[in-house]
Amino acid sequence: MKKALITGITGQDGPWLAKRLLDKGYEVYGTARRNSVRNFYGLEYVGAVGKVKIIDMDLLDYSNIHDTLISVKPDEVYNLAAQSFVGASFKQPISTTLTNSLGVAYILDIIKTFLPKTKIYQASTSELFGKVVESPQNERTPFYPRSPYAISKLYSHWMMINYRESYDIFATCGILFNHESELRGKEFVTRKITQFVAKNSLGDKEVLKIGNLNIKRDWGYAKDYVEGMYLMMQSDKPDTFVLSTGVSTTIRQFTELAFSVIGKKLRWEGEDATEKGYDSETGILLVEVDPEFFRPAEVDMLCGDSKKAHEILNWHPKTTVEELSRKMVEHDIQLLNSV
Ligand code: NAP
Repeated sequence: MKKALITGITGQDGPWLAKRLLDKGYEVYGTARRNSVRNFYGLEYVGAVGKVKIIDMDLLDYSNIHDTLISVKPDEVYNLAAQSFVGASFKQPISTTLTNSLGVAYILDIIKTFLPKTKIYQASTSELFGKVVESPQNERTPFYPRSPYAISKLYSHWMMINYRESYDIFATCGILFNHESELRGKEFVTRKITQFVAKNSLGDKEVLKIGNLNIKRDWGYAKDYVEGMYLMMQSDKPDTFVLSTGVSTTIRQFTELAFSVIGKKLRWEGEDATEKGYDSETGILLVEVDPEFFRPAEVDMLCGDSKKAHEILNWHPKTTVEELSRKMVEHDIQLLNSV
């Protein structure tokens, strides 16, 4: 039985990946850092509570990582743990860097020194492309990161490549474009929208305050993307792969899709910082741009090209952005109805 260790098991991707690996017959270990209130909703949601062995591990603590890796001796490490929210990285650039950069250097060095046969997957990100120099973006597109988050991930991305080339370690990077799901963190824009729409469908009268509606992202479904992570680790050699849908959608369009799930159509007025969205039938204000949510430096548009993953891994995303927004809104309505 192969052993996999997933860091960041309390996040969005950890539980989906854990379920996938359990189904493949792996013994799965998941790491969680110490919190005042532990939340394993994700593992519950995918039906993996009690099946994943939970270990306390903080990426800021070298000896903790060392002891964890040495005691588990995993065949595969999936490093998903990170401070992953771009907005927070502008406010907490140092802790973001320590976790996302140094944490990866710790893991790599422990693998190099003590467990050279252990494979490692690093969660790299489309945010590396930032102010894009070409579109769509693929594995050869130059990087231009635009946030402390992206810059911290640039360091870990290159450390992975450096350890792969220098020490012959199976260090693979997935440059994943945005992927969402029912388990998406509540501060991320897609989930903020779907939660708002769910509340609105149950009669809530609040107005959705949101940042730049014009930015475009390539949104896929997390469950499809963890399959890509698994496939990368089964490949003959370590490499770097882009996972994306190739379809880019504005936040305005995603908002429209989410409202359409509850049968509402939006009418937009104004533009940029003054733009507002009204219920086209009743004229009630539903959405309002609030410059408070603008980023100091924005990534205007991302759109991925996953030809390499299609050809080498036979990986293909299955879920459209329409299906994704429906799944998220329906799940948020169900959650509200269950309290
Ligand atoms: P997420 O929901 O934000 O989960 C991050 C996980 O990392 C959580 O379990 C969090 O624990 C943990 N963590 C944070 N700081 C830590 C630390 N110092 N030590 C140990 N654990 C720590 O992220 P996700 O959406 O699952 O994404 C997984 C990975 O893919 C992340 O590295 C992210 O940057 C990357 N990525 C995500 C996307 C996307 O669209 N989702 C796209 C590209 C790349 P707590 O619960 O205690 O906070």
